[in-house]
Amino acid sequence: MRAFMWTFDANRGHQAPLMASSVEPKNYKLHLSLSEPNCIRRSRLLTSNFLLLTSFFCLLTSALCLRAAAWRYQVVEVKPHVFVWAPEDIRDQEADPEYDRAGSAGFVITDAGVVVINTTNSPFHAREILYEIRARTEQPVKYVINTDGAPDHFLGNEVFADLKATLFSTAEAQSQMRAYQQQLVRRLDGDDELSAAMRSFHPTPATETSTDDWTLHLGGRDLKLISVPAGPSPGTAVVYLPDAKVLFLGALYENGMIPRLDSADLKGWIEFLHKVATWDVDVYIPGHGPAGGKRELAEFQRFLEFLASRPGPTPAEPAPHPKWR
Ligand SMILES: [Zn+2]
Repeated sequence: MRAFMWTFDANRGHQAPLMASSVEPKNYKLHLSLSEPNCIRRSRLLTSNFLLLTSFFCLLTSALCLRAAAWRYQVVEVKPHVFVWAPEDIRDQEADPEYDRAGSAGFVITDAGVVVINTTNSPFHAREILYEIRARTEQPVKYVINTDGAPDHFLGNEVFADLKATLFSTAEAQSQMRAYQQQLVRRLDGDDELSAAMRSFHPTPATETSTDDWTLHLGGRDLKLISVPAGPSPGTAVVYLPDAKVLFLGALYENGMIPRLDSADLKGWIEFLHKVATWDVDVYIPGHGPAGGKRELAEFQRFLEFLASRPGPTPAEPAPHPKWR
């Protein structure tokens, strides 16, 4: 008699039988029937089957979790101790449907603490980021910097506020976050579907602001918050790490997606991108998508120029770029 156990083949993506050919001694049945009453034997068989079934579900769940972790998001160390968290471009079911595509985020690990730049569109994704930080360091998360007030970039703030991190943004971005917080209360009123999707959300605006450019010195690193007069929303800023030559552009750059334009000053936005292309930077972190270099930034800039040259409605939501997908 052979015993079969089902397992999940994460590479092939389906269940495949794993055969265990030598798990049973030849005289197993005989031994049972001679030494134990039938009821005990049945009980042992039931227990054995139950354990086998439990093992199967544990294996299946583990395999599915591993598979999910492998493609739901990626974390890349773009420069020493500078990480980018980029989610797969899918629509989140448990999110504000107007902002259901999670934004990219980053974290910088220093000897004096961790700085998180943007927190995506939900506390669920923010916990994924926190998990990745905890896998790399025991340093506390001291600061969160939001590059703008867009909900898909700040709705994970609450996770880091719980850890007593200081939440920083421009004053205008903070106003945007507060406005969203108030609008959401009105939108949730009487909307059961939205209330269910956002039952675990506690929108948490930035707690500290500045109207001027500002530099955070932490653990021997400088993170410069630089306000940008143009952009898809008021109060947009970028975060520059001069020593690493990394620039977090937030909503000003989408790598492989159509940007949210809203009431943007497109001309000023394009001019700003021309400007940062000449900065001493070799890694540009977008609001959505993976990190890019100067070539990818130039492609986005040309795409924005193409959009600016065509009158008519522009998409309200970031969507896959038809050319790049
Ligand atoms: Zn966004």
